[in-house]
Amino acid sequence: MTHPTHPVALITGSTSGIGAAIARRLSHDGYAVVLHSRGSHEAGQALAAELKVATYVQADLAIDAERVELVRQAVAHWGRLDVLVNNAGISQVIAHADLAAATPAVWQRLHEINVIAPFRLIAEAESALRESARRGGPACVVNISSHAGVRPKGASIPYAAGKAALNHMTRLLAVSLAPEIRVNAVAPGLVDTPLTADWTAAQQLWRERSPMRRAAQPEDIAQAVAMLVASNYLTGEILLSDGGLNLT
Ligand code: NAD
Repeated sequence: MTHPTHPVALITGSTSGIGAAIARRLSHDGYAVVLHSRGSHEAGQALAAELKVATYVQADLAIDAERVELVRQAVAHWGRLDVLVNNAGISQVIAHADLAAATPAVWQRLHEINVIAPFRLIAEAESALRESARRGGPACVVNISSHAGVRPKGASIPYAAGKAALNHMTRLLAVSLAPEIRVNAVAPGLVDTPLTADWTAAQQLWRERSPMRRAAQPEDIAQAVAMLVASNYLTGEILLSDGGLNLT
């Protein structure tokens, strides 16, 4: 099945949380959507049915062959790819002062999903994205990083350092892939998702200290992503979306 009149967006980790909100938003903005997750096949099929011009692909982003296959299936299904949103990510809460708990296994697990997987997906998508640029405006990659990659904060040092790597990769690729492919990042602060449901201290911090007096909803982050996708001149930007907490 192909639908060549719609531009196509692949959003990783899009059956829950921020990714599902981005998929809904880009679908609303006229994109054919490729949904993806590691395990939640039924939720993926249900969301694809709800969004109508959408398909779902399951892939474990820890496995390189499955990354390659995800991009291959996305391009094969719709015949084109215009936007890639690297949203899938994992976190592990470890007190920053507890150096022994941040083992090599923790570093490697987080790095594989939060840093290597986005890079590999961009590499695999590059030729389809360049083709998209030949049809009109530049193609676009948006990486979902974190305020933890900008400030000395976050769930753990391996998580924060990985998100900082993703931010720098965003800037490096913005230079390497221009002008055909724009590469930007959204760096959320606290977002209300299943991942953060029991992060009570962070929730209190955002309610009491942040200028906006609340955590973000997934739709707030989807709005920032949609803005970057629609802005044909922006590249290499890390858009901090933390309700102003960094100012306090
Ligand atoms: P979530 O747990 O709801 O979603 C994460 C997604 O990543 C899931 O769909 C999951 O299937 C996917 N994923 C995880 N490991 C995978 C693997 N091995 N293979 C394939 N897919 C895999 O979390 P969320 O809060 O919506 O997070 C989305 C992104 O936003 C992440 O990159 C996260 O680091 C970032 N972020 C979240 C917050 C927050 O407060 N929630 C803050 C800053 C940044």
